[in-house]
Amino acid sequence: MTAPAEGAGGTPGDSGPTDADWAAAVAAVRGLSADARVLMICHVNPDGDALGSMLGFGLGLRRLGVRQLQATFPGPPELPESFGWLPGLDLLVPERAAYSDPDLVICFDAASESRLGDLVDRLAVAGTTLVLDHHASNTRFGRIDLVDPHAAATSVLAEGLLARLGVPLDAEIAACLYVALSTDTGSFRFDATTPAVHELAARLLATGIRPGDISRRIFDTRPFGAVRLFGEVLGRARLDPAAAGGRGLVWTVATLDDLARYDQPPHVLESLIDSIRVTAEAEVSCVVKQVAAEEWSVSLRSKGAVDVSRAAVVLGGGGHRFAAGFTGRGSADEVMDRVRAALDGALLPA
Ligand code: AMP
Ligand code: MN
Ligand code: MN
Repeated sequence: MTAPAEGAGGTPGDSGPTDADWAAAVAAVRGLSADARVLMICHVNPDGDALGSMLGFGLGLRRLGVRQLQATFPGPPELPESFGWLPGLDLLVPERAAYSDPDLVICFDAASESRLGDLVDRLAVAGTTLVLDHHASNTRFGRIDLVDPHAAATSVLAEGLLARLGVPLDAEIAACLYVALSTDTGSFRFDATTPAVHELAARLLATGIRPGDISRRIFDTRPFGAVRLFGEVLGRARLDPAAAGGRGLVWTVATLDDLARYDQPPHVLESLIDSIRVTAEAEVSCVVKQVAAEEWSVSLRSKGAVDVSRAAVVLGGGGHRFAAGFTGRGSADEVMDRVRAALDGALLPA
């Protein structure tokens, strides 16, 4: 299923998979022998779309009779507790346990190989590689690429392929795909929320999954320590009205020391950007999260006048027009100076 190319400008190569791409992907799965090893990989530091599309698709492959099937992602194998209930978690293996010589590798929600860490080795040795993604900056690194920059989530492509493989949606697959779809549409609030997105959501809900339970677990549950940590980190937020060509930037910094004081793991900070991007006086929001002494994971969000993926790419990262990120080095102040400079070059034509 392909979301309409609303306001797309129609640049070549951004129109989503062709019939031949879909046919090649179907053939790659249908052609698997009974003892084939299939390795699914999603991007580092997986979010709801990365995990949900991978596990939902994996459950579908299992229904098709694929027996040797693993799901993995680079880095420490721990997941946020909010994902601890997802169906299909038994497919997950730590990256060191992932098949060293898979017959098929399928990548989810990764714009480039750099988002796959050391697991990129598996692509070189795999019999074939299939990429499912929706980043405009996707480098088409698969043998077969199902990439649609107009899709609201990678799960839209995962569901499109499952449908073409004749796998019916059940409640377990649907729960995974619903997590993915609701994560990347901001709970159906962003402009990517097309009629096709709601039609997909309707088909997922028709399996009997409970959206209230899912949303509460995914978005509305956090430890008390994290609530207090957010209070402190939000309390030191700064507003730069002159930044982003005078449209305003709101930003804050969270250090490893902050996490330690409240006894919280780094992933609790993933949703901090959602509390800061509400700022009326700022077009762009930014959260700078410490990863190591001089290393920061930076999240950027825009309300529409600035292409933050352009800024993120300049700074070595990537993402979407209105949600992007990169890894910054040096002090937090140095990283923020670079962010302000890059934002001035990322204004979209009025
Ligand atoms: P986040 O702020 O981590 O939620 O990420 C927002 C968007 O930016 C996602 O679509 C990510 O794929 C992308 N992104 C975040 N960090 C990076 C990075 N270091 N390199 C490339 N893309 C990134
Ligand atoms: Mn993602
Ligand atoms: Mn995504």
